[in-house]
Amino acid sequence: MEFRQSSKLSEVCYEIRGPVIEHANALEEAGHSVLRLNTGNPALFGFEAPEEIVQDMIRMLPQAHGYTDSRGILSARRAVAQRCQAQGLPEVGVDDVFLGNGVSELVSMAVQALLEDGDEVLVPAPDFPLWTAVTTLAGGRAVHYLCDESADWYPDLDDLASKITDRTKALVIINPNNPTGAVYPREILDGMLDLARRNQLMVFADEIYDQIVYDDAEHLPAASLAPDLVVLTFGGLSKTYRVAGFRSGWLVVTGPRQHARNYLEGLTMLASMRLCPNAPAQYAIQAALGSPNSIRELTAPGGRLYEQRDRAWQKLNEIPGVSCVKPKGALYAFPRIDPAVHKIHDDERFVLDLLLREKIQVVQGTGFNWPSPDHFRILTLPHADELESAIGRIGRFLTGYRQG
Ligand code: PLP
Repeated sequence: MEFRQSSKLSEVCYEIRGPVIEHANALEEAGHSVLRLNTGNPALFGFEAPEEIVQDMIRMLPQAHGYTDSRGILSARRAVAQRCQAQGLPEVGVDDVFLGNGVSELVSMAVQALLEDGDEVLVPAPDFPLWTAVTTLAGGRAVHYLCDESADWYPDLDDLASKITDRTKALVIINPNNPTGAVYPREILDGMLDLARRNQLMVFADEIYDQIVYDDAEHLPAASLAPDLVVLTFGGLSKTYRVAGFRSGWLVVTGPRQHARNYLEGLTMLASMRLCPNAPAQYAIQAALGSPNSIRELTAPGGRLYEQRDRAWQKLNEIPGVSCVKPKGALYAFPRIDPAVHKIHDDERFVLDLLLREKIQVVQGTGFNWPSPDHFRILTLPHADELESAIGRIGRFLTGYRQG
């Protein structure tokens, strides 16, 4: 008797935590130290949880042992609604907010509630691959629109328009973007939203990095630009408050909800099927949003994240045959390996070979649904000196690397 995984999983691909991880774990078990530059987990790199959040969670813990409302506790939803109003989102009330065990859970619920088998969702390439994976798992088809590296990784609006069919149901916008670090200017967002408007698409705006922006980049919430569209905006504490392990996220519905009444009933049912999000993590939301966020100190010139982003970008560009667009937001860089200089036809192999030789774990570009094996993603979370040394080692490895 053999228990086999469901055939529903056969097309689902999620490389960030993919097979290379097993090799990294085996190396660690054999006593090697592996530099894990694969998952955007600030805690691994010495970023501490803000004290006020931890203290408030501890204080509230004795009251957090029961199930809550399946959408989340009122005080936390109120805090999210207030944050949205401050960001210019149109008319957000507590009933428009759903809390979740991280954005990941809410992404899964939001997509599942919408799709019929064969429905299409427009997802960027490269993407945060959860969007593609959950669309596939829900019986849909992720159709990838290209982002243009030669234009600061902004979405190519012509390519996006050309991919819309009568099966297209939704448009995913990831801004600031993981993995490219792009932060979209108003004209790009307006162009995307206009396509959604003309084709009656629901908009999923994944804005989990909304406060992690560098230089003169400004994050514009998609929902603030399109009060006439049904937009689901996703945010949370994992990145901007550096508490990924708490699993605290939210989803906010804006726009003409009367056109989404039936959908929202479905979403509410899915929310109640998981009973409620973890209650202590909901108190973390209320605590976090009720106090000033120190993220700006980290992203401003001289701040730790700013310096690390700069150093990673400089050092990557010093590697012969490698070029990297400067990230304007988020916690990653997505460099290009010039195929004319380095002949890599299997980027997963490249990432595995790098791991085995240098004990550095990055993620291959194709893991983000990028169509060719000529990119990888690296975190900008380690201290600048550690990043410099790791990128130096990646450069030396690449120089002598050949794929047969
Ligand atoms: N969206 C994007 C673009 C991400 O990069 C991540 C995590 O890396 C998530 C969503 C999920 O975040 P969480 O489930 O921790 O809230």
